[in-house]
Amino acid sequence: MVADSPVFREALIDLGALAANVAHLREVVGTEHVMAVVKANAYGHGAVECARAALDGGADWLGVADLTEAMQLRDAGIDAPLLAWLHDPDADFLPAIEAGVDIGVSSVSQLEAVGAARRELLSQGRLHGQAFVQLKLETGLSRNGISEPDWASAFTRARELERAGDIVVRGVFSHVSNASPQDDAAAIETFTRGLDAAAAAGLRPELRHLAASAAALRIPDARFNLVRLGIGIYGLSPFDDATSADLGLKPVMTLRGRVAAVRRVAAGTGVSYDYTYRTKGTTTLALVPLGYAEGIPRHASNQAAVTIGGQRFRISGRVAMDQFVVDVGDTPVQVGDEVVLFGDPATGVPSAEDWAEAAGTINYEIVTRIGHRVRRTYVGRP
Ligand SMILES: *Cc1c(COP(=O)(O)O)cnc(C)c1O
Repeated sequence: MVADSPVFREALIDLGALAANVAHLREVVGTEHVMAVVKANAYGHGAVECARAALDGGADWLGVADLTEAMQLRDAGIDAPLLAWLHDPDADFLPAIEAGVDIGVSSVSQLEAVGAARRELLSQGRLHGQAFVQLKLETGLSRNGISEPDWASAFTRARELERAGDIVVRGVFSHVSNASPQDDAAAIETFTRGLDAAAAAGLRPELRHLAASAAALRIPDARFNLVRLGIGIYGLSPFDDATSADLGLKPVMTLRGRVAAVRRVAAGTGVSYDYTYRTKGTTTLALVPLGYAEGIPRHASNQAAVTIGGQRFRISGRVAMDQFVVDVGDTPVQVGDEVVLFGDPATGVPSAEDWAEAAGTINYEIVTRIGHRVRRTYVGRP
């Protein structure tokens, strides 16, 4: 990765690392299909660029939460197979069907809405292809999905719509809780019953999928013929007890900026709002121009560390909206110096996990919340 001169606030996104992570995970899980999950602006990394890199790395499906995210990828010219699974109660499925987006369906009313949208498109002479749906089953996460008592009627109705030519049921899927091996085993069992019930109703879904990164890596029985990989493709571990390196992954995002101000101060100087930090002796304070508007957790105040010139310094005082301060002691830090908040710990910088621990959260939240004022710079294009 090229570590050229930093800009004010910047997330370097290593697309080569992303493609390599996808290729590595694909090899490890060995499923027929791999879906790269690029929802939420690719966990803060940039949806369009990351989607392309994931496809280069060997993903054959893309997954997003909602239709707006799906259309953003289509508008960028990405025509790979694509599934969206969380919809507004009044969602208009018509543009997505026309754009060849698979609709994740969690209720009979959504099924009817997709069928109606396709009939409408056909009557307008606007569609020549099919409307593909993937049926989401509730298997214990208590989110969306068709629950077991409704399977028989939903599958029967799906088969009717399929025979009428309104829809094609391309997939059946669900999602696990990662609560415990026992809970995930129960979800696998429930999901398998769902597949059997779908088959009994005459459905022949080409795709059957249950696992996200964690289950894909640790529960072979959860893999079926497709896994949906999110956090892992960004080079981050879904586990508390395994690092990126342990999993053969390389973190994709490096968050950095430039020191915006430096001041030499006396002992006892209060730092940032509420003076939760006071200097112990004469020292140098460096101002880092990223704050909670950038997604830097305020909970990391006085906790998380950054590196400047290869040396680690802890945040001093409160993280503010636009900035925070670090006490660098007598280290000769200058305005314009590079500050790395997190990146690949193999290079000596803090990790997203270090920040997650400092803020009492998970690495997913650390990267996904990185805000709009941070410029994404793409390096290492495959
Ligand atoms: C976000 C999401 C994923 C990806 O999860 P990771 O833990 O990041 O791999 C997969 N499936 C569904 C339904 C999701 O919402």
